[in-house]
Amino acid sequence: MGNVVAIVGRPNVGKSTLFNRLIGSRQAIVNDEAGTTRDRQYGKVEWAGREFSVIDTGGWVVQSDDVFEEEINKQVKIAVEEADVILFVVDVMNGATSLDDEVAHILRCSGKPVILAANKADTYDRHAAAAEFYSLGLGDPYCLSAVNGSGTGEVLDRVVELL
Ligand code: GDP
Ligand code: MG
Repeated sequence: MGNVVAIVGRPNVGKSTLFNRLIGSRQAIVNDEAGTTRDRQYGKVEWAGREFSVIDTGGWVVQSDDVFEEEINKQVKIAVEEADVILFVVDVMNGATSLDDEVAHILRCSGKPVILAANKADTYDRHAAAAEFYSLGLGDPYCLSAVNGSGTGEVLDRVVELL
């Protein structure tokens, strides 16, 4: 039984927004490693009587997909090494991309428990758009909105089940 959850996904899907919502008013701990800025952030979450750590692994400022190709491996490597459960965030407004496929592939191979979080499902009509993420081969997507908080309780319930 571990207690570390890592948030992964391509840029702009809402990882940091979700991280901030999950940790609430608590302070994030920023880990600055040599040569990197804001490499990753750690926070604490309490849910259903459990306390666990959450890591936002996507702190890099990334300008292009090429750079992200390198960074994605680093990000997912950190997640697979450090986390007990991985929260893979995708974006229902943008839909599935080849980078999502790439991350999904690495995560499937890792053997770690993965929760597929279809973010930006702010309204119910956007929930239908999440169906396309079944193709990532990671099971049922959990629809949520990091901005308005809907669906985050179901995701946290699932996290606690898997920890
Ligand atoms: P990251 O690069 O994955 O960490 O993404 P951010 O958390 O920085 O969010 C990228 C953009 O998406 C920001 O403009 C957020 O306000 C927006 N965003 C994040 N979550 C949601 C959401 O649930 N709904 C909507 N509509 N926008 C969101
Ligand atoms: Mg971020």
